[in-house]
Order: sequence, then structure tokens, then C-alpha cells
Amino acid sequence: MSELRDLYQEVILDHNKRPRHFQVLAGASHRADGYNPLCGDRLTVYLQVEGGVVRGASFQGSGCAISKASASMMTDAVVGKSVEETHALFESFHRMVTADIDAPVEPGALGKLAVFAGVREFPARIKCASLAWHTLYAALRAGAETVSTEGAPPPAVAVETDGQR
Ligand code: ZN
Repeated sequence: MSELRDLYQEVILDHNKRPRHFQVLAGASHRADGYNPLCGDRLTVYLQVEGGVVRGASFQGSGCAISKASASMMTDAVVGKSVEETHALFESFHRMVTADIDAPVEPGALGKLAVFAGVREFPARIKCASLAWHTLYAALRAGAETVSTEGAPPPAVAVETDGQR
């Protein structure tokens, strides 16, 4: 686990310092706001979904290093994936971060996201790591019927990590 722990810290620091896709997404078709009251993390996830495929993803907001790094890596991971694959990734990620600390990590589809297994050592931060994913999930569900590719972004739905699964 110590190798994973080093990698975890390295990845969090890197993505916190230079978050990927940290912007409002022009032409977003889906959007949701997420809030983690336990830590004060707030973020908005934007998606551009076309033909059942996530063509673009971005996020904005402010929060701790873990929440930002998680959103950064998530947006990196979902671009180019189908909505079904994105849902499956959400499930895998959620299963991994909430598993027992000793449960084996199956990188599989998670790829680089597997480093977030490191958060299991800090249970208070699990919601920081999963906030972006819950927000993504809410955006996909809510935005499905309000697709607009131009003009004002669709209204945001809000999620809070408390009470979420
Ligand atoms: Zn946090």
C-alpha cells in the first residue's frame, strides 16, 4: 500500500496545482452543482453529451486538494466514454473508495483513478474524493432532457454528499 500512498499524494498534489479541464464548458448540455458540507467543497460539473457519448467535460469551483484533484482526473477520464461507460466508472469508483481498507484494488477500467483507493485511509475525505462523481451522476440524470448546445447552460441541479448513498 505504501507505493500507492506515495503515488496518491503525488497525483493529488499535481492535479491540485494544475487541474485539468478547470473551466466553464462552452456548449455544455449537462450541468450540476455539488456541495460537500463536511469539508466545504463546492463544484460545478459541465458535460457535453452527444449521441450518447461524453464529448466534453469540465468543472469549476473551490474546495480542498482532494476534491479538486478528483474532479480533474474524473473529467480527464470520462471524455470519449459513452454514457453507459461513464455510469459504470462512477459505480467502480464509488465501490473502490468505500471498500474496506484492505480490499484489493482492481485497476481495470479505473486506470489512474485507482490511486484514489488511498483515500480509504482517511475516511473523512472519502466524500471529498467522491463529490465530483456524485455531481457528474446528477448532471447526467438531470440533463438528459434539457440538452442545449448553445446559449445559456441548462439549469444546474444540486447534490450534497450528505445522505447520498
Ligand atoms: Zn474536501
